[in-house]
Amino acid sequence: MRTADVLVVGGGIAGLSVAARLAGQARVVVVEGESAPGYHASGRSVAFAHYGLGNEPVRALTALSMAELAEHGSVHPALHIASIGEIAALDALEDVHREYGCDFARIGCDEARALMPALRPEACVAALVDHGSLKLDTNAMLQAHAASLKAAGGTLVTGARVHAIAREGDGWRVATAAGDVAAPILVNAAGAWADVIAQMAGVTPIGLQPRRRTVISFAAPEGEDVRTWPFTKTVGEGFYLLPEGRGQLLASSMDQTPSEPCDAAAEELDIAIAADRVEQATTLPIRRISHSWAGLRSFAPDELPVIGEAAGAPGFIWCAGQGGAGFQTAPALSAIAAAATLGLPFPDDCLRAGLTPETFAPARLGA
Ligand SMILES: Cc1cc2nc3c(=O)[nH]c(=O)nc-3n(C[C@H](O)[C@H](O)[C@H](O)COP(=O)(O)OP(=O)(O)OC[C@H]3O[C@@H](n4cnc5c(N)ncnc54)[C@H](O)[C@@H]3O)c2cc1C
Repeated sequence: MRTADVLVVGGGIAGLSVAARLAGQARVVVVEGESAPGYHASGRSVAFAHYGLGNEPVRALTALSMAELAEHGSVHPALHIASIGEIAALDALEDVHREYGCDFARIGCDEARALMPALRPEACVAALVDHGSLKLDTNAMLQAHAASLKAAGGTLVTGARVHAIAREGDGWRVATAAGDVAAPILVNAAGAWADVIAQMAGVTPIGLQPRRRTVISFAAPEGEDVRTWPFTKTVGEGFYLLPEGRGQLLASSMDQTPSEPCDAAAEELDIAIAADRVEQATTLPIRRISHSWAGLRSFAPDELPVIGEAAGAPGFIWCAGQGGAGFQTAPALSAIAAAATLGLPFPDDCLRAGLTPETFAPARLGA
């Protein structure tokens, strides 16, 4: 049987980023059920960091994370577009960009179409361009965390699906497909399965809601190099669109269909809706979908991450509910989770940004 100071369940961005932070200070073992890390949500994102999503704490976490994210990202503009009825939403987003000191500009339809030539005029009466958004290399982020974990003496065990968790003395004994692991502290970073892990441990669940999101990929217009096209997103319901290399585009209708935790797959109707929304708002003809996929974004009832020790279960640390921003918040969230795991003070920079342990504590959800 393996032993560790800290056992992390889940080898996605949440688990690997906190494990890498802890590894210099504790003996860390990460158990991942799949044969490779990043198979679920973390392998299915569109790898972008921007201020056009989430609530206030999520934006604060994003701002705190941007410098570290830049190590694995390149600056790429985000174009937030508004139709005639969406000006108030664009105004609110402009306030957010101002608050966070972003390098942005409010622009009109013609300027927006100069940046994104395929936009139909009626789809965009006004827009906001953020010049400081980041296109992330999420695979490099995952690999870098796995390498840091290993370099500090930690271990990532793949093919180690957890199937039972028992209290043993003051700690936890976890049965996995690759053998048992015992540790005084368990970090629950199991993504969509975080409530399943809690129930195995006899811990009150947080009411986590996995939601399926679909992405399609299709060829850019013949001969058009789309690499400089911005990440383009409607401020309200609609779609987002971004370049993937020289000749491909990715798009999503930003669907969020409630789902059980599972190996999510794209459904025909969701693929068709994504294609239709792009065709309605742009002049892009989608003749063939090159590729499509879906992944689960998992939310607590209040759509805030859940980080901290479970009430009545000493040594059970939640690190869940990253929703649609798990990469762009990982630097700050992993620092908060590492502090909670080691019983250290809440990070100063997070306090200065107006965040507190209570913002993320499972106690707010009765867990
Ligand atoms: C389509 C899409 C687009 C997205 N775009 C972005 C974006 O542009 N920017 C951004 O920041 N975020 C984005 N996200 C969100 C981001 O991908 C997630 O917030 C993040 O990946 C969540 O990471 P995680 O580690 O919590 O979950 P996961 O990556 O799902 O990791 C959890 C891991 O736990 C493992 N596990 C579960 N149960 C067990 C068990 N019993 N035993 C062992 N292991 C177990 C799973 O196998 C899995 O590998 C997007 C998500 C989707 C789906």
